[in-house]
Amino acid sequence: MKFNTKCIQAGYTPKNGEPRVLPIVQSTTYKYDSSVEMGKLFDLEAEGYFYTRLQNPTNDIVAAKIAALEGGVGAMLTSSGQAASFFSLFNICSCGDHIVSSAAIYGGTFNLLGVTMKKMGVEVTFVDPDADEETLNAAFRPNTKAVFAESIANPALIVLDIEKFAKIAHAHGVPLIVDNTFPTPANLRPFEFGADIVTHSTTKYMDGHASAVGGVIVDSGNFDWTKYPDKFPGLCTPDDSYHGITYTERFGKLAYITKATAQLMRDLGSIQSPQNAFLINTGLDTLALRMERHCSNAQKVAEFLASNERISWVNYPGLPGNRYYDLAQKYMPNGTCGVISFGVKGGREAATRFMDNLKLAAIVTHVADVRTCVLHPASTTHRQLTDQQLVECKISPDLIRLSVGIEDVDDIIADIKQALEA
Ligand code: PLP
Repeated sequence: MKFNTKCIQAGYTPKNGEPRVLPIVQSTTYKYDSSVEMGKLFDLEAEGYFYTRLQNPTNDIVAAKIAALEGGVGAMLTSSGQAASFFSLFNICSCGDHIVSSAAIYGGTFNLLGVTMKKMGVEVTFVDPDADEETLNAAFRPNTKAVFAESIANPALIVLDIEKFAKIAHAHGVPLIVDNTFPTPANLRPFEFGADIVTHSTTKYMDGHASAVGGVIVDSGNFDWTKYPDKFPGLCTPDDSYHGITYTERFGKLAYITKATAQLMRDLGSIQSPQNAFLINTGLDTLALRMERHCSNAQKVAEFLASNERISWVNYPGLPGNRYYDLAQKYMPNGTCGVISFGVKGGREAATRFMDNLKLAAIVTHVADVRTCVLHPASTTHRQLTDQQLVECKISPDLIRLSVGIEDVDDIIADIKQALEA
């Protein structure tokens, strides 16, 4: 199936007489005829559902659709994008380990890695994604277990050189984990360029309607954990909490994603609700269609902003002359995302006045849904960061993040125009 078809047809294939639309299995638990049968499920000897904190049929179907869209071997839905980021790393890191992460990442993830995971004994070194290979290599330590980065950074809109990052990660024997929330697999499939694990906040374009918070982890199945058994004992040695199963031996290419489900979901419990999985599935049906419109609208809005004398700067990777234009053309020739950042002349104060005068575009924390919205990260999502950290994340105090929706682009531009004039 081609991508557009997979958006609609992958995951759920009803059998004769079954519901045409994905059913919501709103049940915490599942009935078995004997304890022996159920015991086998607990030992991971048989496949089947027993408790929705670990797995749910609706979720699994949506996860399978997303795995198909990304070109992975398996996926797991989580209650939020934050849970996906955390689980993707915690599945292979523990106290005493180290992560290399791009500094240009979502503020919540920056906090998760730099503060909360640090409290758990996992250290992070933040690197400039544009740094040369020598500088990036210097960030690694013997206890480094993963490299983390965003394919298009929120909100800095830096395009990641995935091949460069994958090469360096692999040279150090660790996987590259890419948060692919902004381009979505409609525009970019990081596995095709060497990434090993992909995460998403499905809250964004995948749902696309601002209805359901959620996340997903997708495994390419390509990273050979068994090459580095000392680095990844959780995958390559017996798991005492699962009767001595060794995930790589039992599950092969599905080792990483099975461990995430069997161990992390079991113990930390951040499963997505089946209701939300249903909503995300409906969103995925139109993902390819929506992304095309988000990108064509954003391109026109970026061009309008770039030619307006009240605007001091515009950052959109689709604009020729943008620092990331060439990387965007290489990795995302069909479009990047609907998010633009820019500054208005007059700095922070003028930015706030401009935003207050918008009528169609709403001020919301959210980003990446069908309705145009706007945010000032320095005073909201990233306000916990110091000025120095803001500089490291490449967010200037006057930066306005505009998430271009799929309304008629003439109306979006007219709204921006009147707010600039006001
Ligand atoms: N990753 C990116 C790129 C994001 O933009 C966000 C949220 O804005 C997250 C992860 C966290 O996702 P969630 O809000 O679903 O927890």
